Amino acid sequence: MKQVAIIGAGPAGLMAAEAALERGARVAIYDAMPSPARKFLMAGKSGLNITHSEDESLFRSRYTAPDARLAAMVAAFGPAEITAWMAGLGIESYAGSSGRVFPIGMKASPLLRRWLARLGEGGATLHTRHRWTGWDAAGALVFDTPDGEMRVAADATILALGGASWSRLGSDGAWADILAARGVAIEPFAPSNCGFMVDWSARLLAAHEGAPIKSVSLSAGGKTQRGDFVITRAGIESGAVYPLSAALRQELAGRGATTLLIDLLPDTDEAALAARLTGANAKDSVSNRLRKAARLDATKIALLNEVTQGGAPKDPAALARLLKALPLMLTGTAPMDTAISTAGGVAWDALDNHLMLKAVPDTYCVGEMVAWDAPTGGYLLTACLAMGRGVGSAGGN
Ligand SMILES: Cc1cc2nc3c(=O)[nH]c(=O)nc-3n(C[C@H](O)[C@H](O)[C@H](O)COP(=O)(O)OP(=O)(O)OC[C@H]3O[C@@H](n4cnc5c(N)ncnc54)[C@H](O)[C@@H]3O)c2cc1C
Repeated sequence: MKQVAIIGAGPAGLMAAEAALERGARVAIYDAMPSPARKFLMAGKSGLNITHSEDESLFRSRYTAPDARLAAMVAAFGPAEITAWMAGLGIESYAGSSGRVFPIGMKASPLLRRWLARLGEGGATLHTRHRWTGWDAAGALVFDTPDGEMRVAADATILALGGASWSRLGSDGAWADILAARGVAIEPFAPSNCGFMVDWSARLLAAHEGAPIKSVSLSAGGKTQRGDFVITRAGIESGAVYPLSAALRQELAGRGATTLLIDLLPDTDEAALAARLTGANAKDSVSNRLRKAARLDATKIALLNEVTQGGAPKDPAALARLLKALPLMLTGTAPMDTAISTAGGVAWDALDNHLMLKAVPDTYCVGEMVAWDAPTGGYLLTACLAMGRGVGSAGGN
C-alpha cells in the first residue's frame, strides 16, 4: 500500500486526502496549525460560497490565465460534482439569486465536521502542529512538531499549503522559500479579491465607516462590475470591488494612484437623470435634490460630497454626468494579509501534466498555492477542491 503524505489541511489538501484514500493509499495529513481548515471555516463565517451554478463556459472563463490542466480538473470535478459530494456528506445546497451556491445553513463547520469524520473512518491520520520545513538529505519530509523535529518518508507528497493571506489562519506563504531553494519557479504573490486604499476624510469615516454603497456599477481597466461595496477605515472592499482587483492591481502597478469610476445609479441613464434633476425644486440644496429627484441615500450623497469636496455642480447635466461616473482616487492595494486570496505561487511551468513538481519527483502541488487567480463567487474553492480531487485520485498515489 502506498504511503501518501498530504501537507496542508485546507480544502485542497483534504480533498486530495479523500481521493487518495479512495484509490487505496495510506494517507497521513499534516498541518502547522493546532486545528485543520481554519481559512475554510473563516470563509464560512459570512456564508460558504462553495461553487457557482452559472453556465459552464461562463464558469470556465472566470479563471484568470486559465491553464488547460486547471480547466480539465474543474471540468472533471466542478459545480455539479461538488454539490453531489456535499450531499454525500448529508449537506444539501442551494443557489442564491446570483447563482452562487451555498450549503443550507451557510456555514462551513457542519460540512468540515462530517468530512473530517469520514476521512478518519477511511483511515486517514491527521497530525496538527506539524510545520513542514523541507526535506532532509535522504529526501524525507521534515516537520517541526511540539515533540521536536520529525522525519517522514512517503511514496508521494501532495503539498496543499495555501496562498499568502490571513497568515494567522496558517496560510503564510512561507513555503515559497523552501520550494524556491529546490529550484522551483515561484511567481511573486499579489493580493487578489482585495480591498483598495482611499484617503477618506475624518468626517466621512465618522459618519459612514462600515456603511455599504449599494447597487452601483464600478469600472476600471476596461472592466465593469455591478454590485455593492463597503467603506472601510482604509478604503473600500467587498462584493463589487473584488472582481476588479486584478485590473486595479495592474493599473496601480508602478503608480501611486489610480481612479475607479463609480456609476451611482446604473439603472438610470444620464439624460433621464438630468431631466429628473432639472425638474427638481430649484430652491432645494443639491443634497436635497439628490435625495428627492435622484433617490440617493445618505451614504451615496456623502460619497459624492467627499469626492467633490462639497462642491458638486448645481447644473443638472453636469451633476448627472458626475453621478454616472464619479471618479474615486485609489491610493494603493490593501495589505496582502487582508486579501481574500492571493495570485502568484508555484508557476505552472514548474509542474508536469499531473501537477508534479518537475524539480522534486513524487511531490505534487494543489490549491491556492499554484499560480492561478479567480474572483469570489465560489470559483476559488471550486478550483481548490477540483485540484485536490484530480491529483489525489491520479498523480498522488
Ligand atoms: C474571509 C475569507 C472568505 C472567503 N470566502 C470564500 C468563499 O465564500 N468562496 C470561495 O470560493 N473562497 C473563499 N475564500 C478563499 C478560500 O477560503 C481559499 O481560496 C481556500 O481556503 C484555499 O484553499 P487551500 O486548501 O488551497 O489553502 P488553505 O485553505 O489556505 O489551507 C492551507 C493549509 O496549509 C497549512 N500550511 C501552510 N504552510 C504550512 C507548512 N509549512 N506546514 C504545514 N502546514 C502548512 C495551513 O495551516 C493551512 O491549513 C475566502 C477566504 C477568506 C480569507
